[in-house]
Amino acid sequence: MAVEMHAGLASEGGSKLKMLLTFVDTLPNGSEKGIYYALDLGGTNFRVLRVQLGGQRSILETDVERQPIPQHLMTSTSEDLFDFIASSLKEFVEKEGDVSDTTLMRRRELGFTFSFPVKQTSVSTGILIKWTKGFGIEDTVGREVSECLEQAMARKGLNMRVAALVNDTVGTLALGHYHDPDTIAAVIIGTGTNACYLERTDAIIKCQGLLTTSGGMVVNMEWGNFWSSHLPRTSYDIELDADSPNPNDQGFEKMISGMYLGDIVRRVILRMSHEADIFGDALPKLSMPFILRTPLMAEMHEDDSPELTEVARILKDTLEIPDVPSKVRKLVVKVCDVVTRRAARLAAAGIVGILKKIGRDGSGGITGGRSRSDIKMKRTVVAIEGGLYTSYTMFREYLHEAMKEILGEEAAQHVTLMVTEDGSGVGAALLAATHSSDPVDNVQLL
Ligand code: ADP
Ligand code: MG
Repeated sequence: MAVEMHAGLASEGGSKLKMLLTFVDTLPNGSEKGIYYALDLGGTNFRVLRVQLGGQRSILETDVERQPIPQHLMTSTSEDLFDFIASSLKEFVEKEGDVSDTTLMRRRELGFTFSFPVKQTSVSTGILIKWTKGFGIEDTVGREVSECLEQAMARKGLNMRVAALVNDTVGTLALGHYHDPDTIAAVIIGTGTNACYLERTDAIIKCQGLLTTSGGMVVNMEWGNFWSSHLPRTSYDIELDADSPNPNDQGFEKMISGMYLGDIVRRVILRMSHEADIFGDALPKLSMPFILRTPLMAEMHEDDSPELTEVARILKDTLEIPDVPSKVRKLVVKVCDVVTRRAARLAAAGIVGILKKIGRDGSGGITGGRSRSDIKMKRTVVAIEGGLYTSYTMFREYLHEAMKEILGEEAAQHVTLMVTEDGSGVGAALLAATHSSDPVDNVQLL
């Protein structure tokens, strides 16, 4: 991972890791005060938030409203989509009631979490490279995203400025850093997976002359697309990839994230049933892609009843396989265990890769020759969120175990994984706060 990170930072297209610049050079430190807004767009639901910050790392109040994006707007025109978003935002803002906060005397500021591939041009602006996740609006591609939103807000008579345009991992890092200044990286392991971290600007070779006042910048790795011949790829992974709408893409994500784990398990037990006839007759359901969702896989895996009754129930209800003998139920649990353990260990290896890249793994960095004992390790916090990590206990335990194993007990003591909640929303509001009062952007390209 660390080697590919180097390559991705050295040149555009130098690695499957895109290592995107975010232009976020300052992370919230807890002193931020006032009311800030955030907009989180990146799935079927979009959310608007209002966050009141009280300084001293306190979040006084958070209001959130969720709304589905009407299906037809996902493939309509840019103007229709952004008008809809701006209207929802305006309605939300007008409900703020009687707030006597000085921030409201000036223009309201917004953090915009836009979790689609964007070529960032400053902390608050970026160009849409392509839509994903069911969105497909031709006339937005190639346009500046914040401008689309700001124009819509102007049409609706809403006086608001986009102070930060970020992706969800960057929001998570911001929230982590707000609570704990030793936080230097963030990882999301939910339906998909991604990570970002704080890099020194002089290590970002592909962008020579990049200057920031802090000397650092957050890099969005897009690590779901990581690939290496060292990854333990099986025929199940190859088939899953070939059957997917994006073959040869997101290879790491396909071995790790919640979208896929259940389907890997399904593929393994399908082959077992073909080759060893473990379930008996024809099994039409077991041949259906994605019928076994990861939360159900987790339930089977974590079934601690002596007779594995949950396993039997899920096999019967979801896959329509009745009367599975106890020995075969155990086998199914074993398959879930192997698939989850591999995923968790790969994610752990990825995190250690980031730590290695920035010399926080206790080994002195990838070019360092010093022995571990010479290095005094700094306390390092990695912010982490996503349903797979937070809701799947066995996944989480395997990940922790692997971190310890790879780093060694001693170094592992200096590394904390901290769960943040709703970084993609709150974190964007925090970044709006951090980047609000700057009259000039303090990031320049020479
Ligand atoms: P998203 O990644 O879509 O923004 P989340 O971070 O909440 O949303 O992650 C949701 C994903 O986490 C689900 O798609 C599922 O794969 C996984 N997940 C949620 N709950 C569980 C669970 N109990 N066990 C295993 N996986 C789960
Ligand atoms: Mg999410």
